[in-house]
Amino acid sequence: MYVVIEGIDTAGKSTQLELLKKKFPKATFTKEPGGTPIGIKLREMALGGEAKSKIAEMFLFLADRAEHIEEVIKNNENKIVISDRSMISGIAYANQLDIDKLVELNLIATDNTLPTHVILLELTPKELKYRLSLKDNDSIELRGIDYLINIQNRMKETIKKLNINHIFIDASLKIEEIEKKIEDFINAN
Ligand code: C5P
Repeated sequence: MYVVIEGIDTAGKSTQLELLKKKFPKATFTKEPGGTPIGIKLREMALGGEAKSKIAEMFLFLADRAEHIEEVIKNNENKIVISDRSMISGIAYANQLDIDKLVELNLIATDNTLPTHVILLELTPKELKYRLSLKDNDSIELRGIDYLINIQNRMKETIKKLNINHIFIDASLKIEEIEKKIEDFINAN
């Protein structure tokens, strides 16, 4: 079982992942970018903003993903693996490129391995605006509401296009309500 938790910044992935660690103590918890030793280096490069080319940046994320699938996902096929982000983020955040082309590239990187369960924590623009207003004036906030809502829309489009088993959860619900929905979704399938 390859479970993925997705969402734009401030959607509440980290909080839910901490709760999942308690609920599923035997599961393997991982993340991308940065879920392998090489991935840690690639994450630093990809998110460091050094690359002049957005395409180069995308290939760094793809290299991270290929290594992550090979090292972590395929090696844990008989276990529950729960990953913070996946190719869905990869496709959504590379927003200068067409989704169909990105799907092709990502399927090469993942050797056609798709998540079996995708949980998307979804924010309304209003809720996102509020949450960003609580944060320090860092790079996430500077990216802006329209940028992040567009990324979220691309996440939804990608999930539907790939026809992956998924649940979209209103991220403004109470933490315990979200936790319950996630648990039910994982246990039901
Ligand atoms: O959630 P995490 O800490 O791994 O993400 C760090 C940042 O990297 C986030 O702000 C997210 O916007 C960005 N990101 C990205 N492209 C990806 C994955 C994450 O730009 N494929």
